[in-house]
Amino acid sequence: MTAPPRGTRDLLPPESARFAALERLAADAFEGAGYLRVVTPVFEATELFVRGVGESTDVVRKEMYTFPDRSGNSLTLRPEGTAPVVRALVTHSLDKRGVPVKLYYSAPMFRYERAQKGRYRQHHQLGIEAIGCDDPALDAEVVEVGWEVLRRAGVGPVTLLLNSMGHLGEECRGSYLPALREFLAGQRDRLDPDCRRRADENPLRVFDCKVPQDQAILAGAPALDAFLCSECREHFAAVRGFLGDAGIPFEVAPRLVRGFDYYTRTTFEYRSGALDWAQNALGGGGRYDGLVERLGGPALGGIGFGLGVERILLAAEAAGGAPQAPRLDCFAIPLGELVAAVRLVRSVRAAGFSADLAYGERSLKAALRHASRLGARYAAIVGAAEREAGAATLRNMDSGEQDQVAIEEVARWLSER
Ligand code: AMP
Repeated sequence: MTAPPRGTRDLLPPESARFAALERLAADAFEGAGYLRVVTPVFEATELFVRGVGESTDVVRKEMYTFPDRSGNSLTLRPEGTAPVVRALVTHSLDKRGVPVKLYYSAPMFRYERAQKGRYRQHHQLGIEAIGCDDPALDAEVVEVGWEVLRRAGVGPVTLLLNSMGHLGEECRGSYLPALREFLAGQRDRLDPDCRRRADENPLRVFDCKVPQDQAILAGAPALDAFLCSECREHFAAVRGFLGDAGIPFEVAPRLVRGFDYYTRTTFEYRSGALDWAQNALGGGGRYDGLVERLGGPALGGIGFGLGVERILLAAEAAGGAPQAPRLDCFAIPLGELVAAVRLVRSVRAAGFSADLAYGERSLKAALRHASRLGARYAAIVGAAEREAGAATLRNMDSGEQDQVAIEEVARWLSER
């Protein structure tokens, strides 16, 4: 019991501070675009994900943490963020107060996956959902907000892949699936047994197949774009137009279907140029017209994305742009003058600076070493001489320069630096 379960990690300082900084900058970007925070339970009825994400998806077939509670209800630890948010919208009729309903979340996700660097059994996602509106400008907004978070997070080069999966009617998906089935039937003997099963159960899911030989075969599969109806085609063109206007470069990826059954029309993925192929997806999302209805709500479309926090931090580190943890402003060192030092810390904190104190008696040298380890900007030394002068010695921890500053002036002195 000395290590956390396989595929999970303890998030420790200083990485935890980078995590918190990323969460803050994302919340600023989301709120800046009119999205409000929603917090849903960590576990939900299993049925929600079976119906929402789709029975034959990899997530539902083999990755969910599903368990009966003590009353025999089947519950599942949330593997993805969209179905729970849509469920909450339906539960509380959130659309009654006007659409689009714009929500964001920051939440852990649980998937029983093969654990490796950048792939965990508990990972964290930052996501937004805009529900109740089909406007292509809204699709572009969602893509742009995610792009902006990645830019502010300093992840380095990102490729935006963009596709339209069409709608679920007779045209579009209805005419594409028979063509895909026919192609797969012709390749049946060459496909891996798992991919063959996908072809039989739910042909679109063949594109999630990870076997390289199958991927090579699938590169020759018919693409959806040739089957889009005129409305979906126009919608997609409009989304591309808005993204072009925003100056966001993208690549059209006609076989990008992403792993969940609920996607329709616009789908997208952000890929990092700084990470290895197996873990280079920083996030992705798409439209899910039909999902609200499937989960018992009105016929409302929606679009959203989920960004992978661990991947973003890895990419930012690789690109040298990781969000910086804030430094401690002041570390007070009492040399026998504990009361004065405690008061100093209180007044510095009250002025809005971060401050800490060298608790436990120790030498000046040991306390200064502690201050460096904490990354403090200044040490405030309070000894007998300082107390007599009603002052503290402020030591710049980077340059070693020292100044005597009257105790009641310390906060103002710090604010001038
Ligand atoms: P998804 O919900 O599958 O669309 O994933 C959205 C994003 O979450 C991905 O692009 C990754 O950045 C991240 N992600 C998904 N699964 C994992 C995982 N097992 N470990 C770490 N990050 C993940």
